[in-house]
Amino acid sequence: MRMRILERFVYEGLPSRVVFGWGALDVLLEEVERFEARRILVLATPEQQAQAARIAGLLGDRSAGVFAGAAMHTPTSVTDEAIAVVRAADADCTLAVGGGSTTGLGKAISKRTELRQIVVPTTYAGSEMTPILGETSEGVKTTERSARLLPGLVIYDPQLTLSLPRQLSVTSGINAIAHAVEALYARDRNPIVSMMAEEGIRSIAAALPRIVDAPGDRDARSDALYGAWLCGIALGAVGMALHHKLCHVLGGSFDLPHSETHTVLLPHVMAYNAISVPEAARRVARALGEEDAGGGLFKLARDAGAPTALRDLGMPAADLDRAADLASLNPYWNPRPIDRRAIRSLLDDAWHGRDPAGQSD
Ligand code: NAD
Repeated sequence: MRMRILERFVYEGLPSRVVFGWGALDVLLEEVERFEARRILVLATPEQQAQAARIAGLLGDRSAGVFAGAAMHTPTSVTDEAIAVVRAADADCTLAVGGGSTTGLGKAISKRTELRQIVVPTTYAGSEMTPILGETSEGVKTTERSARLLPGLVIYDPQLTLSLPRQLSVTSGINAIAHAVEALYARDRNPIVSMMAEEGIRSIAAALPRIVDAPGDRDARSDALYGAWLCGIALGAVGMALHHKLCHVLGGSFDLPHSETHTVLLPHVMAYNAISVPEAARRVARALGEEDAGGGLFKLARDAGAPTALRDLGMPAADLDRAADLASLNPYWNPRPIDRRAIRSLLDDAWHGRDPAGQSD
């Protein structure tokens, strides 16, 4: 059914060049030349050092070496170390190969040095499409948004996601879906971003069961990364709401793992908000091929063997009250008003891993 566009809206496209496709890394040198990068420092986590070394090899004499110290939550101490390496190597550009943690390091370096950024994403987190940076210093996380933080060149090669373990593939995929879900009901939503968001959900949701069955499935890996790209655009383009706030609180204050926390909470936040945004809920359900948006998201995670309960992520029940307090502080926009009692009840459902469609306990 074609939707009618009745409201005035603003759409702001973010400028970056994207190369997508199986084997896209084959054109790395051409792309780097076009980008006019001469000395490129490759960034990675310690776990992806070998992948970083391979990319440095592909760069040949344009490589300024590898810094494989990226860490979750972008600690400023790591950024300082990396900048010392940038200076010693006289680098004029960074290339982050990895997930959101490594991309975050590239952004943090760029913020302080104005170095341009290339990103080769290997998870579905989507940070490469956003002008957003979250950093931690002495345990405190701060987030900022600035057009200067957006990477200029992104090369999506689904081949690099083959090594992403099954479970991380699923939770990272649902992390991406969470961006698109919140984009569909964002206060500043618009039809262009909503179209990308719905297609992103559809593409990832269709891919995840195939990846679980066969992690080497080339088409499924391509569909998932394509969907992640679209969901990343949605995250960068419009504002997020309750879901991202809750994940921020649980990740920051209770040290819960990033993509798993997104996976557990999303069905419950969708169910909480559905009553206020029936059209967005309908589009999420349609993209999932399900009747109910929250129930469909829960089923997607459960059937793929992902965690569905906060208690399984190690969160003590005794912390739920404080989490509800923190999530209700500093009023922020959400399509359904934030009510402390309702949030506490949402967290209780998520802690137990109840199906929001009410089909199991
Ligand atoms: P991550 O980058 O922390 O990666 C998790 C682990 O998986 C790491 O050890 C990494 O080396 C490994 N890994 C990544 N790709 C792999 C692959 N293909 N094969 C094998 N191992 C692989 O995880 P993430 O979920 O991508 O990113 C989470 C972080 O990114 C959080 O800190 C989050 O806040 C941030 N983030 C920021 C934005 C933004 O717009 N600023 C968006 C999304 C996420």
